[in-house]
Amino acid sequence: MTGRSGSPERPATRFHEALLGETITWAIAHCPFYRERFEGLPVPQTPSELSPLPLTWKHELRSAGWRARAGHLTPALRQHTSGSTATSFEVYRSREELEFVGRFIGSLYPTDSSAPRTLELFLGNPAHGGHAVLPSPSFVIQGNVYDGAFLPHLAASVLLDSHEIPGVEPRVTRITGALTHVAAMTAVLRSTGMDFSAAKVATLSVTGFLMTNRWRRLLEDSWRCYIENCFSLTEVFGWATHCEECDAFHFGPEVVPEVVDVVTRQPLEEGRGMLALTSLYPFVQMQPIIRYVTGDVASIVPTRCRSDYPAHRLEGRLSHAWLATSGQIVLPGVDIINALDGEALVARGEVFRDWYDRFPIARELGPPMAELVTSGDDAALRILCRFDPLMYPSEAKELTGRLASQVAPAIRSGFRDKLTIQLHGPGAAIAGYKPSSV
Ligand SMILES: [Zn+2]
Repeated sequence: MTGRSGSPERPATRFHEALLGETITWAIAHCPFYRERFEGLPVPQTPSELSPLPLTWKHELRSAGWRARAGHLTPALRQHTSGSTATSFEVYRSREELEFVGRFIGSLYPTDSSAPRTLELFLGNPAHGGHAVLPSPSFVIQGNVYDGAFLPHLAASVLLDSHEIPGVEPRVTRITGALTHVAAMTAVLRSTGMDFSAAKVATLSVTGFLMTNRWRRLLEDSWRCYIENCFSLTEVFGWATHCEECDAFHFGPEVVPEVVDVVTRQPLEEGRGMLALTSLYPFVQMQPIIRYVTGDVASIVPTRCRSDYPAHRLEGRLSHAWLATSGQIVLPGVDIINALDGEALVARGEVFRDWYDRFPIARELGPPMAELVTSGDDAALRILCRFDPLMYPSEAKELTGRLASQVAPAIRSGFRDKLTIQLHGPGAAIAGYKPSSV
């Protein structure tokens, strides 16, 4: 971790040092999977002492099943990863931990305030199983983009009407939801000509995977409000929030982030590697998550703000990165996808396919269609276009030039002449990036 986080007076460090040892002890006491893996190893008390413990991979937890869970607790909630980037993975939460989390979060909010509560629209995500119902300072109206009645009319009236609810602000000022759903709702409302300036939304809080630069601009242009960009995953309790000053993410105190070298698997003090997260007890009890490799690429960058936490640049899925034969990361997926996603002439994959007749704009919601094919240390970025480059050679040349100039600065030095960009016309067989990949 960076020097900033290592200072003992920092609240994040105090949180980690108070709970990390208990987290490991709990997992050893109640989960045979962790007991066997950690046998004979010292119990770490600080993040810097974590590295002797082996990293944990999703396939190991999946095959361990209930051996990696505290089976004496009362199951209360089953969630699952969406399966968009790998086979779905089940996550169980116990009644005991949900009660603790509820008490903890509830204690953070004032209970005697006479000010009206915030009115919030929450877009539920049925792709991840049950929701934990936690205390909130807001009054929440639930919406569901898959509900045929919700888009566009109910959403527009929720956002544009005044609501008479005792003790609650009359207008929706906050929207929360998965990026995919917030983006889809925004696109559909744009296609209906909704007057966004008549809405009173002050904060758009999106979770899930990373937001591309183009989507950030589109959401800002539409809502003209603060965009709270959060990174989270179903398996881990805790999240990271994007910081404007650092242009990077800060993880909250309830999770311990590490960046480990892709080749040596050793924790890094600076630079780029694989993200590994540890969820802290008692926020997580039934299914401990310790040094869990999330499948994301991350860099540790200097913290430029007054935050107590280290700053991480989150750089897309490891499976989308260009890796050298040495195993080192040549180009993170986020730089490839940001370049492709900004180009209108790059074809889009299918998502929300059932909507195409009702909302033609849904054809624009899919990820850019491209694949990275490596051969030794060389790589080819094969891109599916909305036009045939044989028929529009000058447009093809311009597009290739723009893409090359955008990704070149992010390519590891010594590899810049090893990337070729290949444009293909409609009908070419290109697998594309899976949805939710950024
Ligand atoms: Zn910051």
